[in-house]
Amino acid sequence: METETLQFHEMGLDDRLLKAVADLGWSKPTLIQEKAIPLALEGKDLLARARTGSGKTAAYAVPVIQRILASKQNVRVQDVRALILVPTKELGQQVQFMMRQLTAYCSRDVRVADISGKDDVSAQRPILMEKPDVVVGTPSRVLAHLNAHNLSLQTSLETLVVDEADLLFSFGFEDDLKNLLCHLPKIYQSFLMSATLSDDVQALKELLLHNPVTLKLQGSQLPDSSQLQQFSVRCEEEDKFLLIYTLLKLRLVQGKTLIFVGTVDRCYRLKLFLEQFSIPACVLNSELPVQSRCHIITQFNQGFYDYIIATDERSLADPAATSQPAGRGKKKAAEKAGKAKEKEYSISRGVDFQNVANVINFDFPATVESYIHRVGRTARADNPGTALSFVANTEATLLSEVETTLTGDNAESTLKPYQFTMEAVEGFRYRCRDAMRSVTKQALREARLKEIKKELLNSEKLKTYFEDNPRDLQLLRHDQDLHPAVIKPHLKNVPEYLIPETLRGVINPMSKKRRRKTLNQKPKPQGVSKSSFKGKNPLRSFRYTKRERTKKPSQS
Ligand code: AMP
Repeated sequence: METETLQFHEMGLDDRLLKAVADLGWSKPTLIQEKAIPLALEGKDLLARARTGSGKTAAYAVPVIQRILASKQNVRVQDVRALILVPTKELGQQVQFMMRQLTAYCSRDVRVADISGKDDVSAQRPILMEKPDVVVGTPSRVLAHLNAHNLSLQTSLETLVVDEADLLFSFGFEDDLKNLLCHLPKIYQSFLMSATLSDDVQALKELLLHNPVTLKLQGSQLPDSSQLQQFSVRCEEEDKFLLIYTLLKLRLVQGKTLIFVGTVDRCYRLKLFLEQFSIPACVLNSELPVQSRCHIITQFNQGFYDYIIATDERSLADPAATSQPAGRGKKKAAEKAGKAKEKEYSISRGVDFQNVANVINFDFPATVESYIHRVGRTARADNPGTALSFVANTEATLLSEVETTLTGDNAESTLKPYQFTMEAVEGFRYRCRDAMRSVTKQALREARLKEIKKELLNSEKLKTYFEDNPRDLQLLRHDQDLHPAVIKPHLKNVPEYLIPETLRGVINPMSKKRRRKTLNQKPKPQGVSKSSFKGKNPLRSFRYTKRERTKKPSQS
């Protein structure tokens, strides 16, 4: 039986909050918001298993803001009333952004400061001296400020939020978190948000929450197939490159796409490979300075780029997998540094990429959890999405693990085979091989160094200049060619005779001039991306002629 959804205006929220929610265009609360907000407003502690993209940030942000507004009606003293702990700087920035949007009409009453992002503790001191109502930060940074007496929570804290709690543990924030708790008052309300309810999270629940309500809202950790279509295709190394080339060049993949690879090296390998066909893509990995990473995500959300090639937390578990640039003797130190960096950074989780139409696992993720987090970047809120995983023989066991988990969760949430006929694109193989050969070890090394150098420069510029000139930020693109390999201009185009017969006349990659957004161009609309792969089912492009496809696409 369907019960009526509780609406935002029925929750007893302050008008200023309701106005901000309306401005965001949220017509109704998401499931977690509908359940969590009223309970939180009653004063309950909450443990919520919240899928990425479920609207979990607002599920805690709305009651936090409401409570501050209510408190301030009685006692107008300015003090830190809420602390939001996050595992990464990126998530910190995103939470602050969401809080600022929700406090658009009460920004004087509810001041928010994100201390996760800046480098220097002493530079942040003045921000905390102002006693912002809400402080957002990583556990270690918050602890550093508590120890430096820049921040005191003993008497003022009303609400504690721990966001992405499971990630806090995998990033090694456990000790900082425990030490931090000694600085908190005896009574406060707590919200614990986590994608998984691991043993660590259960232990934290015992430590933090008093008589909590546990919300495990969705049966499955990913949306079902009416919202998220998941496919897998078996292919070995060379075929992975051939397939990605075909999908992108023939524009069989449409809309914003995140392409995940296993290591930083593979990020650049793929970027350099695509570069030779004039397919621009950004890389996003832990080697890049944090400002650059945030800027890339912001620009991606604004529609500047179609493709991001990203690594995820796989290298966290195995830092050696993140091969370092030249200098063997320094390998150990570099690995250590790499590990520390990875700890604070994982792009497949926590960070809010908006309107991602497709996730492509170019390399299959190392764990089921990682699969869920990667694929959870698409089909967020009510948007549709498609996930396609390339699976080599060596990755087949991982695929089975994912399939077993997903089917166990919900039979509707599972991977279908992507029946791609490789023979249809055999004609492209020679040029792909050619391009793969050009991406030598030397070229990779040069590309990595060049990119880091460039991004470090960008990062400095971003920090200083762009703080004062935010509009100019748009001029800085991150998807430019690195081309240490020789670019062969003819590879940019796709001759008609190489296009699979079934697609001739349907697609014309040469006619599609790539959008290069400049300052004066409007960003791509942020609405729902139309279709993920061409047609509802990406297989169709290869299986039907144009007429057949327009006549009657079959159901899969
Ligand atoms: P989150 O799970 O908090 O990362 O949110 C995922 C996305 O959903 C964000 O881009 C939010 O802006 C969006 N969102 C949150 N709540 C709603 C809502 N009630 N209606 C529509 N979109 C929402």
